[in-house]
Amino acid sequence: MNTNDLITSLTNIPDFKLKLISQELNIRTIGDILEFFPCRYKTNLLIENISDLNDKYLNEDVIIRGSIKSFQKNKVKGGREFLEAVFCDKTSYILLLWFKKIDVIQKYFKVDREYKLKGTLTKKRSRYVLVHPSVVQETLSFELEQEIAPTYNLPTKLKQFGIDSKFLNRFINYVLSQVSNIEENIPANICEKYKLINRYKALMLIHNPTCSQDIHQAQRRLKFEELFFLQLKLLMTKHIRMSKQKGFIMSDITLFNDFFNNHLTFELTNAQKKVLKEIYQDMSSGFQMNRLLQGDVGSGKTIVAFLAMLMALGNGYQVALMAPTEILAEQHYKNICDLCKDLGFHVALLTGSTRTAERKSILYYLSHGFVNILIGTHSLINDQVVYQKLGLVIIDEQHKFGVEQRAKVTNTAAHVLIMTATPIPRTLAMTLYGDLDVSVLNEMPPGRSPVKTIHIYESQRLRAIGLARQQIEKGHQVYFVFPLIEESKKLDLKNLMDGYENIKSYFPNTPISITHGNMLPKDKDIEMQKFVRGETKIMVSTTVIEVGINVPNATVIIIENANRFGLSQLHQLRGRVGRSDFQSFCVLITGVKLSKIGKQRLKAFVDISDGFELSNVDLQLRGEGDIMGNQQSGTVSMKIANLQTDYNILNCARIEALGIIKADPDLDNNPILKKNLEEKLDTNYSNVG
Ligand code: ADP
Ligand code: MG
Repeated sequence: MNTNDLITSLTNIPDFKLKLISQELNIRTIGDILEFFPCRYKTNLLIENISDLNDKYLNEDVIIRGSIKSFQKNKVKGGREFLEAVFCDKTSYILLLWFKKIDVIQKYFKVDREYKLKGTLTKKRSRYVLVHPSVVQETLSFELEQEIAPTYNLPTKLKQFGIDSKFLNRFINYVLSQVSNIEENIPANICEKYKLINRYKALMLIHNPTCSQDIHQAQRRLKFEELFFLQLKLLMTKHIRMSKQKGFIMSDITLFNDFFNNHLTFELTNAQKKVLKEIYQDMSSGFQMNRLLQGDVGSGKTIVAFLAMLMALGNGYQVALMAPTEILAEQHYKNICDLCKDLGFHVALLTGSTRTAERKSILYYLSHGFVNILIGTHSLINDQVVYQKLGLVIIDEQHKFGVEQRAKVTNTAAHVLIMTATPIPRTLAMTLYGDLDVSVLNEMPPGRSPVKTIHIYESQRLRAIGLARQQIEKGHQVYFVFPLIEESKKLDLKNLMDGYENIKSYFPNTPISITHGNMLPKDKDIEMQKFVRGETKIMVSTTVIEVGINVPNATVIIIENANRFGLSQLHQLRGRVGRSDFQSFCVLITGVKLSKIGKQRLKAFVDISDGFELSNVDLQLRGEGDIMGNQQSGTVSMKIANLQTDYNILNCARIEALGIIKADPDLDNNPILKKNLEEKLDTNYSNVG
């Protein structure tokens, strides 16, 4: 068996299961399944004293030591017998319960003899209980008792068909035993330098660790590999760009200056001016611009993008602007049409829901140069979209685009400007987007006061309703946001609909919009537009409004089950208000039951309004307690590395990749690297969002 074989070629498990695994986990080949890594590990906890047990261990597998003091047979209501035993050590006691084979069990255990028992800790009538515990053999050593079970991140749908972590682990181990071509893909000198274990061993250990050292070694090796190839890819892209592509020279700034001096309705912030200078330097330099523009939500990236467009337009080039969603694309379209009103440029919108006939005519006009600005979703850069003279590509909210999609854009000769509100530390951004220059908008437009943020419990909901009512009476608008629970779309929708009905009962005479992921884009847009035009006063939605939507008149955002959101997502949501000089409010609603970390996170969010600072706190809070796990960074989809916390590994990987690309830019002398890079590109770096 070969890592390139399709998993559907396996015969030892039923076809429908293979199909499910393939579809739900996005797994095509044997190699893919080996790289479907555990998201965390469950460890059996050895409890020294029974009195050490506490609620923290509930539903965990524990191992305890002690002896049985007494047995008692009881009957449940229906008449069935069960067996109960009191199990003690010097410090405390716990109950054991058996419902089956109770006679055999009673015979097996000797009263007062010491046993080690393993079971899942539960609680009945405030007493700790193990149901059907198993006996841990005395001969086993301490290390072996601390058996570690890998847990995979599996959708409920798979679990329904019996594909759980245990099943998947057995399946992967079968594959591991059959596959014959797992080869080392990192050069030997690098493995040696960083003490990386070999690839085969790492794959074995990541799925079958016996101690935390195993996990650590395996993760370090596999993270390094992932980041190393990502860096190779980025650096190669950069090399190609620098050596093979001359940039268009756009030095005529008459149009830009005219607009800047006569048509701007507000004064730009100093940060905006500085960034525009950087952009102009790039676009007139003769090299292709590849710039990342970072700016917190509301910092005014759009107008910067528009002014950059004018530089290209003024030199006779076409411009493309890509947004991650249709709603955003349309918002940009309307915005830009407005701004262009007196300039005589033709603006067109091309999205997934553009009709065929219209699409055809847009493409025709585009290829003949009659369309000057094309706005749309990511379909703008592909073989069917032919420009007459494309000079600048702008990508809004970069985190929704994958590295590979970006590479496609970079391979056109046009200048590229990427905008993001994702707060990544500058050094990390430069490493992560190894091929980009970075500009930062670190200043908010004047007159903005921070959004007042409060956290309340469900029982205090009326306070939020009161605030919403007061603001609506003043003529403002309000968002209500409900989280996605992912596991079940149906449940999400029900949550949202219940919430909607509830809100309607509080605001019987107020026009309300609702949007969610299950609606047709067209319908979603109609609702969105009603809210944008101010016809509806309340927008009830899931996180579809998260990114980029600009309704300056909205002053309140009320977020239900706020603890379900990540801090950066909350920050994006909060950024929907506070977009004018009206005082705005963000209300987080949660139940009273919150974990300690959960409370700390929400408190930090209430206290901190700066996105960068918030992301640092997020990192600190997440760093603890998550050492064994790995989290998606939300920036590029990674299988195992965490782009924020694995900074050291990333740095080493980058240094090594840099050395290789410098000496051998096309990897002609490194055939193994080249082959692996090509194979990985198909799957790894294709897309997020
Ligand atoms: P983001 O950076 O989140 O994309 P936008 O570009 O949508 O933010 O800008 C948010 C709001 O701020 C818009 O209504 C925009 O017109 C306004 N704005 C941008 N720059 C300035 C400025 N220098 N002065 C006043 N308002 C500004
Ligand atoms: Mg924006």
